[in-house]
Amino acid sequence: CGIVGYVGSDNAGSFLVDGLRRLEYRGYDSAGVAIFGGTSFSVTRSVGRIDALASQLGTVPPTGTLGLGHTRWATHGPATVENAHPHLGGDGEVVLVHNGVIENFQVLKDELIAKGYHFASATDSEVIAHLVAEGLKNTPETPDQPNIRYLTAVQWAISRLRGTYGLAIAFRDHPNFMIAARFGSPLVIGVGKGEYFVASDASPLVGRTDRIVYLADHQIAVLTPEGFSVLHRDQGKVRVDIRPLETES
Ligand code: GLU
Repeated sequence: CGIVGYVGSDNAGSFLVDGLRRLEYRGYDSAGVAIFGGTSFSVTRSVGRIDALASQLGTVPPTGTLGLGHTRWATHGPATVENAHPHLGGDGEVVLVHNGVIENFQVLKDELIAKGYHFASATDSEVIAHLVAEGLKNTPETPDQPNIRYLTAVQWAISRLRGTYGLAIAFRDHPNFMIAARFGSPLVIGVGKGEYFVASDASPLVGRTDRIVYLADHQIAVLTPEGFSVLHRDQGKVRVDIRPLETES
């Protein structure tokens, strides 16, 4: 029910955990984070309070300058560690958090199982992670601009979804960017200096940046430590307004 993401040069962990706490009011039954630590993502998930996740992460959370996190309000599959997000796709090359409901997940799941994908959860969300992996398999390398291939795979995957989604997606083999996409579930981008944030609403951004972009339905954002761009599903690159973050006092 809540998403956070960080791309920058600071340690992702503190923003992620702090951000998830600020999204607690939206309601949740489990939570998790994935932090990229050099060669792979370290995924930590737990059932119950964010405090449980924080204590599992320990006083020194995994270090890494890119990460994403999630509070889950279970719709498909009970509130267990296996069903908590982040979910991995393929053989772990895709890591993803999802808010919303994928209505055609069973059809997609059957199709992916027939192709040899293994599911570790009962969620509708894991289908998206494997679909992105399948998209990557079918998209040629673009060595000069790796994120184009990843973007193509994500666009293909979401074109197959019926339902609602707020997504933050990262990639083991190109851990210097993140893709966010929305349809029917809110998602904002916080614009910092050499760092960018993804969140379900503005509350995690307070004190981190005062510049915010509200993604619209069908928009997809690519974030790197150097900048971000937003595309519309059908219209290509779009200009977005960076708005001041209004804080109530
Ligand atoms: N439908 C997904 C699940 O059950 C996401 C729920 C949410 O938005 O937190 O895992």
